[in-house]
Amino acid sequence: MVSARIDDADVIVVGAGPGGSTAAYYLATAGLDVLVLEKTAFPREKVCGDGFTPRTVRELVAMGVPLREEDGWIRNKGLRVIGGGHRIELPWPELESFPDYGVCRTRKDFDETLARHAAKAGARIQEQMNVTGPVVDERTGRVVGVTARPVDANGRRAGDEQTFRAPVVIAADGVSGRFALALGIEKDPRRPMGVAVRTYFRTPRHDDDWMESHLELWDGEPGRSKLLPGYGWIFGLGDGTANVGLGTVSSRATTTKTDFKDLLQRWVANTPAEWEFTPENQVGPVRSAALPMAFNRKPHYTRGVLLVGDSGGMVNPFNGEGIAYAMQAARIAAEVVAQARSRRTDAAREATLGTYPRIMADELGGYYSLGRVFTAIIEKPEIMRFLTRYGLPRPALMRLTLKLLADVYEPRGGDVSDRMISALSRIAPAA
Ligand SMILES: Cc1cc2nc3c(=O)[nH]c(=O)nc-3n(C[C@H](O)[C@H](O)[C@H](O)COP(=O)(O)OP(=O)(O)OC[C@H]3O[C@@H](n4cnc5c(N)ncnc54)[C@H](O)[C@@H]3O)c2cc1C
Repeated sequence: MVSARIDDADVIVVGAGPGGSTAAYYLATAGLDVLVLEKTAFPREKVCGDGFTPRTVRELVAMGVPLREEDGWIRNKGLRVIGGGHRIELPWPELESFPDYGVCRTRKDFDETLARHAAKAGARIQEQMNVTGPVVDERTGRVVGVTARPVDANGRRAGDEQTFRAPVVIAADGVSGRFALALGIEKDPRRPMGVAVRTYFRTPRHDDDWMESHLELWDGEPGRSKLLPGYGWIFGLGDGTANVGLGTVSSRATTTKTDFKDLLQRWVANTPAEWEFTPENQVGPVRSAALPMAFNRKPHYTRGVLLVGDSGGMVNPFNGEGIAYAMQAARIAAEVVAQARSRRTDAAREATLGTYPRIMADELGGYYSLGRVFTAIIEKPEIMRFLTRYGLPRPALMRLTLKLLADVYEPRGGDVSDRMISALSRIAPAA
């Protein structure tokens, strides 16, 4: 991976979402010349719940991103869960490995903050540059760069296609996974997929310091129809508004007949009046997107390309959280690339790059295998109903469930619940 003179960078990163910007930050910090190509221009919206658990906070802290409340980060102390006639507040656990708070912030701010943080560390970020495909060396079959086209603020073509060369490419282009697809890496339809919708409302409770989740999503009339596997959320943003949305999961990537916008409307109409989620208070449209879960696109490394975040299907199947995992994968990918660069032969560099999927499987594979079992179980409405009705009133069980579902537990040591979750994650095969 010694850069030939024709290379434009040591590493090209496709996409400046949380995964791409985190990779760029760590690569630049390690002294590599990193070029990030992003098709949009910041600030820009991204369909998301804007909720970040302590797992994401841990990644932000590791990168030195300032999390001051005066900069717009609103902190929360845990999860309020509502369902089956119960309402419980579960504080984030106090652990050595994770902070005991989460944060909320619009992705419009969050993604720009991370991209600027990476640029400050030395990454070159080129906005409004749409990557159109990989450049493959015909002799070796390796990816040696990308083609890209300048676009205007509306995504329309604004110039001729250009070629950018680098010996390693990190594909962090999100759920569409176009870069991986161009290399023939398809998503695995046997893995779980989620669908989520969200909008914003003005609300007097915009500074609620709990992340609120509602476990009862009815397919039709409440109490009389099917209970869907998923939850609705209300995440106060501290700026006069809250992000309000819902997501459901399917253990396989099947097409669904559910009208998600209608489901959101019906659920919102049943939320407590004090939130004031009236049509007049809605800000902006309802938007939806898919959640690719449990490593549904593999391999995570091939021919000089590493997949990071949604492009590698890295969303947590237990709770639909994706940012912490995109950032974790990016941190690991950057470290592997920096190590590979220090090796002296092509074979040694390739062997080092090849460790990335193995490390990812070690870190998350077992936990995601458990998540696949979990999605298959909660798909059965009677089980979802049973869990909501009888699980929620049991505080000890719920504390364990919070640790398991939020993936916030002590990986080594800790109490009985920590040890149980880490043992299960280790025993489960990382498929
Ligand atoms: C409704 C909804 C709610 C969610 N809520 C949460 C939540 O509350 N918390 C949480 O942790 N996760 C949440 N998620 C999941 C989370 O949004 C994703 O997992 C996360 O955005 C993945 O980050 P990423 O960097 O992999 O991809 P992305 O955030 O999708 O970033 C990809 C980037 O690549 C750019 N790009 C794409 N194609 C190209 C191209 N050809 N050329 C150049 N650039 C390109 C895009 O413009 C984008 O900037 C939610 C998802 C949905 C749909």
